Amino acid sequence: MSRRNRVLVTGGAGFLGSHLCERLLAQNCQVLCVDNYFTGSRDNIAGMLSNPRFEALRHDITFPLYVEVDQIYNLACPASPMHYHLDPVQTTKVNVHGSINMLGLAKRVRASILQASTSEVYGDAVEHPQTEDYWGNVNAIGTRACYAEGKRCAETLFFDYRRQHGVAIKVARLFNAYGPRMFVGDGRVMSTFVVQALRGEPLTVCGDGGQTRSFCYVDDTIDGLLKLMSAPNEITGPINVGNTQEITILELANLIIRMTGSKSGIVHTKLPPDSPSRRRPDITKAEAILGWSPTTPLEAGIEKTISYFDHLLSAESSTPPLRPVLAEVRTWPP
Ligand code: UDP
Repeated sequence: MSRRNRVLVTGGAGFLGSHLCERLLAQNCQVLCVDNYFTGSRDNIAGMLSNPRFEALRHDITFPLYVEVDQIYNLACPASPMHYHLDPVQTTKVNVHGSINMLGLAKRVRASILQASTSEVYGDAVEHPQTEDYWGNVNAIGTRACYAEGKRCAETLFFDYRRQHGVAIKVARLFNAYGPRMFVGDGRVMSTFVVQALRGEPLTVCGDGGQTRSFCYVDDTIDGLLKLMSAPNEITGPINVGNTQEITILELANLIIRMTGSKSGIVHTKLPPDSPSRRRPDITKAEAILGWSPTTPLEAGIEKTISYFDHLLSAESSTPPLRPVLAEVRTWPP
C-alpha cells in the first residue's frame, strides 16, 4: 500500500462520511474514521468494521488529535438544521475549533485537507444560481448562523492556513445531498417527506412550499469530493458540488407522494426563520476544472432513497430502532 493512502475522515460515521469511507476503502486507502456519534451512527460503519484497512475512533474534533495521515476530509458537523439547533454553540465550535485542530494536524503531518463546506455560506442568496464568486447574504445573529457562519469562518481558516502556512487545502461547497443513510427524524426535507409518505402521514411543507432546493444524490456528491481531493494542489476551490436540477418543496412533496404511491396529504407548517428562498448551484467551475457533474437524475435518486427507507421502516417495525430517535439525543458530547 502506498504511503500516501492513509486517510482521515472526520464525521466518518455520518451520512456523507460513511459513504466516503466506503469509497476510499474501495480505492484501497487505509481509512481512519473519526466521529463523536452526536449525529453519526455506528450502524453506518458496521459493514466496514471487519475491513483491516478501516479503523473507527470515537473522538470530538474540538479537541486536538495526533495521528499520522496523508489526507484529511473534514466532514464533522451536524448538517441538519434540527440537529445544529440542539447545540448551536458546539456547532460553531466544531467548525472553528474543529477546523483549527484539523488544519493544525494537516500542517504538522503535511497532509492535504478538504473542507466540506456548504451552500449555506451563500445564505438567503440574492444572486441566482449561486456561483463561487458570490459572497453571500447571511444573518450573522440568526438561528442558522451557528452553521452558516461557522462554515464561513472555517473557509477563512482554510485559506489563511494556506496563505500563512502553505497547507494544501481544498474547499467544496456542498448543496443539499440526499440518499440512503439519511436519518429518520433528522428533519431534513428529503428524509422527512419520504418517511412521512411511507408511513401514510401528511407531508409537512413549510410555508407555501414555493422555496426551492437542488438535490444532489449522495454518490455524485462523494464523486465530487474525491475528484477535488485528487486535483493538483493549486486547485483549492471553493468549488460548488451540487445538482443543478431545481425544484420547489411543494413539487418535491407531490413527487414523493406519487413515487411512493402514498395516500398522504400535505399540511403547511411555519417557514423556519432565515431559510433560503432559492438555491441552485452554478457548477461551471466543477465541470471545467474537475470534469465533474452529477449523473443521477432526481427521480432515480429518490427511487433509491425510497427503497432504503422502505426497507429500514419495515425492519424497525419488527425490531428496535437502529439508532436513537432525535428526542433522545439531548447531550453533547453524548
Ligand atoms: N422543509 C419542509 N418540510 C420539512 C422539512 C423541511 O418544507 O418537513 C423545507 C425547509 O423549510 C426548506 C427546505 O425544505 O425550505 C429544505 O430544508 P432542509 O432542512 O432539508 O435543508 P436546508 O436546505 O434548509 O438546510
